[in-house]
Amino acid sequence: MANVTVSLKHQPSPRELACGACGAQFVPAEDSGSRVLSMKSADQPGFVALMCGGCASKWAYGTAMTLTTIPPAAS
Ligand SMILES: [Zn+2]
Repeated sequence: MANVTVSLKHQPSPRELACGACGAQFVPAEDSGSRVLSMKSADQPGFVALMCGGCASKWAYGTAMTLTTIPPAAS
């Protein structure tokens, strides 16, 4: 993977989803600290992972996270 496109953004989904790091069920629309991490490159399918506010904060401050990924939305 030479060039990788990454994005980290808050997606206020109204549905309850599981954090990809700690597994907690939460509603992203009610957790302004939650983040969706997506990573893709031209020659790889890429991945998307959701982090709750607590995990996103720990990760941002340097804690390594093992994330359960969800399939990227078809676009
Ligand atoms: Zn979490």
